[in-house]
Amino acid sequence: MRLNWKKLINGVYLVKEKSNRVNILNSLVIQNNGLTNSLLIDANYPFDAIDELYSRIKTSKMLIFSHGHLDHTAHAFYHQEKFYTPLFCPIQEMDYLTNLDKLMERVGFNKLNLKEQYSMMIKQYIKFQECKYVNSFIPGKDNFDCASFLIESIHIPGHSPGHTAFKISSKNNKARKILYVADIGSHPYYGDLNSDIFQYRKSIDKLEKLYLNDDYILVPAHGNFYNEKDENFFNRIREKIDKNKEKVINSLSKEKPQSLRELIDQRIITPQERIFEPIKELYYLWDGGMIHQHLLELINENRVKKIEKKDFFSHEYILKHII
Ligand SMILES: [Zn+2]
Repeated sequence: MRLNWKKLINGVYLVKEKSNRVNILNSLVIQNNGLTNSLLIDANYPFDAIDELYSRIKTSKMLIFSHGHLDHTAHAFYHQEKFYTPLFCPIQEMDYLTNLDKLMERVGFNKLNLKEQYSMMIKQYIKFQECKYVNSFIPGKDNFDCASFLIESIHIPGHSPGHTAFKISSKNNKARKILYVADIGSHPYYGDLNSDIFQYRKSIDKLEKLYLNDDYILVPAHGNFYNEKDENFFNRIREKIDKNKEKVINSLSKEKPQSLRELIDQRIITPQERIFEPIKELYYLWDGGMIHQHLLELINENRVKKIEKKDFFSHEYILKHII
């Protein structure tokens, strides 16, 4: 058995692959008139695990994605080609699934000359293929209505432009509601060139308000889920983001301007020992993007000055003397 099924409420299961792969997902299987023809959220697993899923659900009414990042979507094509499952992606990122070059352009791999390394990773490790066709939905506007459940979309941009949370409520009984908060979780990431830390912080506030004002089972896309109310869940994410910010401040100097490349090479976000060697260049986007977002915050707070140089990695930054 490659998949672990955990019943959250009647008709909704948290399904997770049993493996040590990085970035494994908490996906949801939502019954639509019985298990056959279920709705799926972020059901991205290795191919044999997808086969195992369909041996149980037979067919799926739709597979909905919280956003277009490939740890959530890489095997969407397999659902589509082998099991004819209709795919739904936030409109802002639907082209990520059908056109790898668009993804690399919009996320920033092209601009930062990392296209070759990223393509290699896709081929070697992720085994992504482009989908022939993807349906879109507008997060915050389009909801999914099925026989037994209402799935409402909530737009939570910042991690990515179309990043979406889902509120799942049962129609037939007084079952508890589920809040799926996607990639607002224990490892906050906002390093793509179209990520936005200001929006990420606002999205945390938005979800927290919703969560604290009602009773939900809280399910992030990665890591633990929370049956009991965890009042501090969103605060812990803020603390992690602020810790990253603190690291950026501590790596800057008041005397000597440093380029973004020099800041990245201090390995303040992903420690050296956790860098996966074959794709180490890609951390220039992942870590570099996060550091860059904090620099934007600090410039906005008038604590850092940017010195324009020729490109993204060579622009320099210096701490201002605050009187
Ligand atoms: Zn993501």
